[in-house]
Amino acid sequence: MTDRLSSELFQRLFARVTISPDTRETSSVKAPFTGEPIADVPLCRAEDVDLAIKRARLAQTSWATTPYKKRAEVVLRFHDMVLDQQEEILDLIQLESGKARRHALEEVLDAAIVSRHYAFHGEKLLQPTRRRGALPALTATWEHHHPLGVVAFISPWNYPFSLAVTDAIPALLAGNAVVLKPDQLTPFSALYGVELLDKAGLPQDLFQVVTGRGRELGKPLIQQSNYICFTGSTETGRSIAQQAGAALIDCSLELGGKNPMIVLDDAPLNRALDGGVRACFTNSGQLCISVERLYVQEGIYERFVPAFIELVRSMKLSAGFDYETEMGSLISQEQFDKIKGHVDDAVSKGATIAAGGKARPDLGPLFYEPTVLTGVTETMKVAREETFGPVVSIYKFASTEQAVSLANDTLYGLNASIWTGNTEAGRRLALQIQAGTVNINEAYAAAWASVDAPMGGFKQSGLGRRHGDYGILKYTEPQTVAVQRLIPIAPSLGMTQESYARNMIKALRVLRRSPGVR
Ligand code: NAD
Repeated sequence: MTDRLSSELFQRLFARVTISPDTRETSSVKAPFTGEPIADVPLCRAEDVDLAIKRARLAQTSWATTPYKKRAEVVLRFHDMVLDQQEEILDLIQLESGKARRHALEEVLDAAIVSRHYAFHGEKLLQPTRRRGALPALTATWEHHHPLGVVAFISPWNYPFSLAVTDAIPALLAGNAVVLKPDQLTPFSALYGVELLDKAGLPQDLFQVVTGRGRELGKPLIQQSNYICFTGSTETGRSIAQQAGAALIDCSLELGGKNPMIVLDDAPLNRALDGGVRACFTNSGQLCISVERLYVQEGIYERFVPAFIELVRSMKLSAGFDYETEMGSLISQEQFDKIKGHVDDAVSKGATIAAGGKARPDLGPLFYEPTVLTGVTETMKVAREETFGPVVSIYKFASTEQAVSLANDTLYGLNASIWTGNTEAGRRLALQIQAGTVNINEAYAAAWASVDAPMGGFKQSGLGRRHGDYGILKYTEPQTVAVQRLIPIAPSLGMTQESYARNMIKALRVLRRSPGVR
C-alpha cells in the first residue's frame, strides 16, 4: 500500500456501501502490483440492492425539482475537488488497478472534463423546446424532458474511477438518482468518487453504491431501476440487454473492441510512432478503445515497423507511483492467463514475437511485456478476439481500399486511429470506417475527450452513446405537450367529413411547397 493511503480511508469507503443489517460477507480487494490485500469490501446481496433502490427513489423526488443551476454547482464543486485531491485519487487508482500513474491521470482528467461539460452545457439541452406543431400557427407544441427516476450503472475495473462516475454525472444533472455497482476488483476508486460527490453537496442517499458479484446484483438492479447503463464485455452486455428488454427499460451498452490503427504512407512518422505506443499500450492495453490491429502501408512499412519495435522494447515498466513509468501491471490472474493464452496460441500457429511476449515476475506477479506480433493469420485468436491486453499484431497493406476493408473486417466497431499528412483525406477515409469514434493523427484521446460529441460502438461494440447531447438526453423521459388553438383537428363549424378531407389534402399540398412554414 502507498504510505499516503490510510486504513481509515478504506474503512470510511467500506461504510459508504449500502448494506442491510444481515449482510455480513465481505471480499478482499488485492493490489495487482504485489498481490497483497488492500482492504475488504461488502459482498452485497439482492436485499441490499432493494434497499439502495428504495433510498435512491426517495431522495430523487426532491432532487428532481432542484433547479439545474443548483445541481450544476454540486458537479462543479466535484470538479474542483477532483483536481485538488488528484494525488490521493491517483494513488488509489494505481493501488487498486496496477496501472501506471500517467494512465491513472487520464481518469482524473476525464472526470473533470465531463463534469465541466455537462455542468455548463446540459441545462440548454433539457430546457423545454418549441417544436413544429401539427398545423402551422394553430398547434403550439413543446418538447419537455423529465428525469427517469433511478438510473443503474454497472462499471468495469479498467477505468475504475472515471467510468464509475462520469456516466453518472449527466444522469444526476438530469434530475435522477443513481445506484452504482462497480467491479469487484476495484470498488474503492469508485467509492472515492462517490464520496467526493457527497462532499460536493449531493443530497443524502441520492447516489447509492452496492458492491459484489455482477451476476447476483445485476438482475435486481435492472428489475427495479428505470434505466441501465452498462460498461463491460460484449458477452455480459448481451445478457444485460436481454434483461433490460424483459423489464422494458432502456439501456446503453459500452462494450468491447478490436480496434484498428492505419498508418498511411504520408503519415508524420515520429508522431505516428509515439501515438502507436499510446494507442496499443495505455493501461497495459486494458482499454476498450486501445489498438490491437496495426495496419501499415507498404511505402512506410520499412521505416515505421523497425522503429516501432525498438520503441516498444525500450518502454519502462514498473510498479512505481511516478510519472516516468510507461506501463504498469495487468489487473488480475484471469487477465494475465487470457493475454498469455492469446500470445501462446499465436506463436504455436506460426506468429513471430517482434517485441515482448514474456511475463515479468521480477516486477510483480501480473506484469506482462508490451508485445508486438507479426505473421498473424486468421486461425489465431489474436486475429479476431479482443485480447484486452498489451498485444498488437502488425499487418502490411497496399491501398487505402484494402486498409478500409481490413479495418472493417471485425464484429466490433468501437474506435479507430488513422495517421496521415493529409487530414482532409483522413477525414474522408474515416467515414468509411465502421467505428463509433475515429481519431486522425491521435490514438484515442482526441475523440474520447471531445465530450461534446458522442462516443460509443458500432456493431457488437455497443448500443447507445455516452457524451454529447445524447449522453444526457438518454437519462430523460421526453414528453410532448401540444396546445390546439381556435379549431380542432377534425371537421368543425358545420364542415362535413368530406370537405374536411378535401381541405386537409389541399393543406398538405400547400405545406409540401412551403417547408419553412412553422
Ligand atoms: P465484464 O462484463 O466481465 O464486467 C463488467 C461489469 O459487469 C463488472 O462490474 C461485473 O461485475 C459486471 N458483471 C459481470 N457479469 C455480470 C452479469 N451477468 N450481470 C450483471 N453484471 C455483470 O467486463 P470486464 O471483462 O470486467 O471488462 C472488460 C471489458 O469491458 C472489455 O471487453 C472492454 O472492452 C469493455 N469495456 C468497454 C468500455 C467502453 O466504453 N466501450 C470501457 C471499458 C471496458
